[in-house]
Amino acid sequence: MSETWSEVQYNRLAELGASKDDLQQTFCDAVARNQFFQKLEQALIQQQREQLRIFQESVRKPGLIGLEEALSAVLIEAGFSRVSTPIIMARGLLEKMGIDAGHPLNEQVYWLDDGKCLRPMLAPHLYFVLKDLLRLWDKPVRIFEIGPCFRKESRGGRHSQEFTMLNLVEMGLKQEDCQSRMPELAAMVMQAAGIAEYAFETEESEVYGTTMDIVSGQETLELGSGAVGPHVLDKAWKVTDPWVGIGFGLERLLMVREKAPGIARMGRSLSYLNGVRLNI
Ligand code: ATP
Ligand code: MG
Repeated sequence: MSETWSEVQYNRLAELGASKDDLQQTFCDAVARNQFFQKLEQALIQQQREQLRIFQESVRKPGLIGLEEALSAVLIEAGFSRVSTPIIMARGLLEKMGIDAGHPLNEQVYWLDDGKCLRPMLAPHLYFVLKDLLRLWDKPVRIFEIGPCFRKESRGGRHSQEFTMLNLVEMGLKQEDCQSRMPELAAMVMQAAGIAEYAFETEESEVYGTTMDIVSGQETLELGSGAVGPHVLDKAWKVTDPWVGIGFGLERLLMVREKAPGIARMGRSLSYLNGVRLNI
């Protein structure tokens, strides 16, 4: 049993959602392998067509949209206000996050003309509106945004160039409440996302210094990163209140919930509709 799938066969089966076992099959020779490939490909295509039929009949929106709606509803119910800020971000606002020429994240930014970029994160715009809301609203001020972010990424199955971030922040808390609030907020999001198993890890972030990551699984997939303030970055935004904030990747949450092998089929796509491959 020495023959394994050819690269083309392997990729085709993977995109059709073949199981790990099927992807690891071995055969006595190429003829046997090719015969089995044809059968397996047809069976997987039938399954994908069936899923597409169910999608059209009853699901009717991609998991990403459903998750965004679910998270939004839970956070609004919990007293957060949703904001919607521009996808185009000024370089100056990123610089206020310490992201300038020498910073590793700077290389990952999609720059546009005129010192603007496609936002690689939501935090600068949230800081921006918070500075006014802190003046106008009673504290704590609770806001969140869900929307596209963009980063030039070279790493495969866990990173997309465009992905969807949820960033929530509670500002104007009592200092002593910030640390304990983090796991409460994480739990709320994870429950709404339908993920029961996750853990916390202390991590060094290029932007925030020490962060608290929310991770999943043995291969520790990062689902979110949280930070607490007051923080050195706050000064640039004239923010002095204690805060807690967490950024989650929605496609990563979906990957875990759906046990998907890669991130590609979870995000915005021309090749997949709700995880179903369309060239079938
Ligand atoms: P990683 O270390 O996995 O590259 P990160 O620490 O750079 O992620 P953060 O800046 O902490 O990412 O962003 C918050 C969350 O956004 C991450 O925990 C992750 O869920 C998600 N995220 C970040 N980059 C990507 C990406 N390129 N594709 C999909 N999701 C991403
Ligand atoms: Mg992180």
